[in-house]
Amino acid sequence: MARVYNFSAGPAVLPEEVLLEAANEMLDYQGTGMSVMEMSHRSKPYQKIIDEAEQDLRDLMNIPDNYKVLFLQGGASQQFAAVPMNLMKNKVADYIITGQWAKKAYEEAKKYGTANAIASSADETFSYIPDCSDLPVSEDADYVYICENNTIYGTKFKTLPNTKGKILVSDVSSCFLSEPVDVTKYGIIYGGVQKNIGPAGVVIVIIREDLISDDVLPGTPTMLKYKIHADNGSLYNTPPAYGIYICGKVFKWLKKMGGLEAMKARNEEKAAILYDFLDNSKLFRGTVRKEDRSLMNVPFVTGDEKLDAEFVKEAEKAGFVNLKGHRTVGGMRASIYNAMPIEGVQKLVAFMADFEARNS
Ligand SMILES: *Cc1c(COP(=O)(O)O)cnc(C)c1O
Repeated sequence: MARVYNFSAGPAVLPEEVLLEAANEMLDYQGTGMSVMEMSHRSKPYQKIIDEAEQDLRDLMNIPDNYKVLFLQGGASQQFAAVPMNLMKNKVADYIITGQWAKKAYEEAKKYGTANAIASSADETFSYIPDCSDLPVSEDADYVYICENNTIYGTKFKTLPNTKGKILVSDVSSCFLSEPVDVTKYGIIYGGVQKNIGPAGVVIVIIREDLISDDVLPGTPTMLKYKIHADNGSLYNTPPAYGIYICGKVFKWLKKMGGLEAMKARNEEKAAILYDFLDNSKLFRGTVRKEDRSLMNVPFVTGDEKLDAEFVKEAEKAGFVNLKGHRTVGGMRASIYNAMPIEGVQKLVAFMADFEARNS
């Protein structure tokens, strides 16, 4: 068996311990004589799995009792529609455009009402986070929407926008559980789990209870109503059962690692190794304004497309895979999520230093 260092932006690296545990339980989950994949979602053992997953997530994020936790399907992209369908009472929402995912959410929302782009960093290829301290938030906005960590461009909101009292909705797909958050500052926090938590197929929605109601836009599909899922404990229909089970294991792993404060320290340490190297390199450079750098996704370039391609090729041969930048940005991107060990980053930097020495 040869494991590589996988810098994929998603689906992405998972803790080896979790994968091994899942492998051990594959044929017989805790004496049930079956895999979790084969188990009824209405069974007692499965109820325990989903209940524990929810409780562990609540513990990790310190989620207050007046927030529901929903385990849903459809990916983060489906929430681009679910959010306006459930929240657009006045049919007005404000979007901060910091990259492609925010833009897609904004475009989707336009189908259901008036979506306003109240700030954007498109003018500099989304390489920074705009100043959001005093934005022209619409008087009747049902919510203000952000993508908190921009997976493709490698920027992160270090302070949340001033929403002037409006509900904040945040897509945290690529920074989920990477550091502590104050849940009370949000109306909805949601994210696909395939970046930092588990296998593709699960999206987690953390939503304040007063935002859940039957008062949704006409024509909202049953499956997109938060109330249906909240009333049924995420078991209205068959949930992504195996995926939730793996998420639950990752939550337990995170608790064992010391929780989100410890993960933050670890993630800062890992990211610093890479950013410090980039700041001192004569060949490579980061592409993002320093204050807005993500701890999770680190894009970088040499400035020479041919050399970039050569680097990606050689890196792959050396066991550092999925370093090619997003197809719309080019260059390289190292995604260094929670499960990427520190040695992975140290070895990548050593490899980059060697590549630099050979190519200058
Ligand atoms: C990957 C990603 C998405 C899209 O997720 P899907 O589950 O593929 O729909 C949305 N937002 C962000 C921030 C992402 O990183």
